[in-house]
Amino acid sequence: MQMAAGNVYRSLPGPASMRSVAITQEELRQLRELYQSVMSDAAFGLLVREGAILGDTLVASLGSVAAKGYFDAASEELRRRQWVERVEFSEGRIVVDGSIEATPGGSAAPTCHRLRGIIRKLYESRTGQKVYCKELECTSTGAPRCVFSVGEMGGWALGDHR
Ligand SMILES: [Zn+2]
Repeated sequence: MQMAAGNVYRSLPGPASMRSVAITQEELRQLRELYQSVMSDAAFGLLVREGAILGDTLVASLGSVAAKGYFDAASEELRRRQWVERVEFSEGRIVVDGSIEATPGGSAAPTCHRLRGIIRKLYESRTGQKVYCKELECTSTGAPRCVFSVGEMGGWALGDHR
């Protein structure tokens, strides 16, 4: 049986009474631009915090996956929830193809802020430490892929807090 794309959220864990809504890539972009038009660069931090909330749910859905398979399970879940088409985790470096938050060539600055929040939570859950997540390259600015780096908060320079 062909499964419609809209059915993807039905299998997510949660109380039976929990409802979900679908949101499109274009709607996400418009929401980001709305926040930026109101708040300028302060919007980035808010979007990261949105991502962190979504990341908590994603981490919870991974359950008690073995440490060795943690990032494989996280990759699969990010793909299944359609945040990315493909993601590779390595030591402090994350490479994403097909970020839902990116519009190729559509921006002068990186745009995948919610994904930064999600990635932060994925690492914090593993390490028990607060981490930052920067987007070093983004397809929105013309890069071939989105590339993120994660590190401990101590390595986060003043003024980089967005
Ligand atoms: Zn990006």
